[in-house]
Amino acid sequence: MHRTIIVAVGNELLIGETLDTNTNWLCRHLTALGFKIEATLTLPDKIDVISKTIKSIINDNWIVFSPELLIITGGLGPTEDDLTLTSIAQALDTALEIDKTAYDWVKEKYQNLAKESLVSSSEMNPARDKMARLPKGATPIKNTVGVAPAIKITYKNTTIISLPGVPQEMKGFMLGEVQTILSEQFSVGAHIEKELWALCGDESILAPILSKVSEKHPEVYIKSKAKGFGQNLRFQIKLHITGTNIVIDEKLKAAIEDLEKNLNEHNIKLDKS
Ligand code: AMP
Ligand code: MG
Repeated sequence: MHRTIIVAVGNELLIGETLDTNTNWLCRHLTALGFKIEATLTLPDKIDVISKTIKSIINDNWIVFSPELLIITGGLGPTEDDLTLTSIAQALDTALEIDKTAYDWVKEKYQNLAKESLVSSSEMNPARDKMARLPKGATPIKNTVGVAPAIKITYKNTTIISLPGVPQEMKGFMLGEVQTILSEQFSVGAHIEKELWALCGDESILAPILSKVSEKHPEVYIKSKAKGFGQNLRFQIKLHITGTNIVIDEKLKAAIEDLEKNLNEHNIKLDKS
């Protein structure tokens, strides 16, 4: 399973003005592809904070390992407060330079926007140039929804992908070009989950049973949630597993059988419908 860290960048996220929907979407999407999200972080638009955090993530100094995949969203726009590329360059001790391919994409996009009268000028300017100024060694990825290109850059064992913060643009990349990059580079697997209901009115009886089954099936993540009150109390039990298809099917089946057996021993019925 490929260890992954997601970093969302933006002051607007930290003051609560914008809900960080990107991180949640990325967690679900990447989990479904078999990636293991080890941590998510939200950072301000501050060069030092972003670059030092990236540096420690990719150098094993943070939560003891460096991830195979580091996805960053936000801070790629034309405005001065968008500082993610500068921060990545600083973290990797490299310079920023105009990338010819990215420059041509940005230029072409503004020419098209000008033709449709969506912007007043098709000319490049410093703010537009900024979106094509990438860390040395980065591969640009074309933005099919907006303007700012995304980038891919590799450092030791970590593939860093930096995406725009606008949710539609981020999803456009993840469902398009980035999906291709990930499937070429990683053995993309699958995630399956099964929802069950335990007809039980007492969580204190259920909890040790779930712990016992979890211990025996460490690859299966088992989570329970109470629904209803008193006699009609039912517990939703969700089992999640990530990996390669055939094996995870079998492992999940074994965990469910074990769960059922242990619940039966305590006269707790399981609704699998
Ligand atoms: P940026 O790429 O940082 O310029 O972000 C552009 C816009 O995208 C912001 O003004 C937010 O409205 C939105 N945005 C940025 N990051 C996120 C996020 N993590 N979740 C949801 N929306 C976001
Ligand atoms: Mg921003």
